[in-house]
Amino acid sequence: MRETLRLLCGLQELDEDLYRVKDELRRLPQERDRRREKIDHELSRLNELEHRIAEVRTRIKEIEDMTTGQRQRVRKLENEAAKTTDQALIAAYNHEARSIKRDISEAEEEGLGLVETADKLQREADELRAKIEALEEEFRAYSENVDEEIRVAEAKRIDLEAERNQRMHSQVAPNVLETYEKLLDAREGHAMAMLEGRVCQGCYVTVPNNLYVRLARGTELVNCPSCRRILYLPETD
Ligand SMILES: [Zn+2]
Repeated sequence: MRETLRLLCGLQELDEDLYRVKDELRRLPQERDRRREKIDHELSRLNELEHRIAEVRTRIKEIEDMTTGQRQRVRKLENEAAKTTDQALIAAYNHEARSIKRDISEAEEEGLGLVETADKLQREADELRAKIEALEEEFRAYSENVDEEIRVAEAKRIDLEAERNQRMHSQVAPNVLETYEKLLDAREGHAMAMLEGRVCQGCYVTVPNNLYVRLARGTELVNCPSCRRILYLPETD
């Protein structure tokens, strides 16, 4: 039984490495996705900004077209007024021309405000674009590192799995291995626990003395009554 425990402890050491590597293989792509999402979020903000800039510019163009038409109309009214001596007609022409000029002036004011808005948004968009370019650059380098880390971890995982398979086919009895595997799964990679001064180092519960005696006798596998981990004693030599 002492030999079984020794084998299980060796297996446990290997499994701890394996759990670490597997955890790394899960964590690395997740972290990369999280970073990618941040950049994509900035990209959609930039998209939104550019859309708003386009809208403002369209409105500016509309105002320009409208005021061009209105100016033509004013010139036409002024020409008509010059051609006639009818004072009532001249007054009417002048009245309409003044009203249109007021409209033009209001529209121009709105146009100027919009030009300012467009310029401000454009500056924001330019800054954001530069920021995104820097982030993309950083992400490319980061991503290459992650690829390398994943490659290394994957190679290590394959090695560990191979060694594990080899050990599994060694002298440990199948029913013991089954117990071990179940615990490994339930206790996230820690199936074994050292008993130190009657305290289980897996869950820090003090076990009854008779359990200690059974374990010291070395004729059977003893589980912690609290966390169920397979107990072993510290090396005495
Ligand atoms: Zn325990």
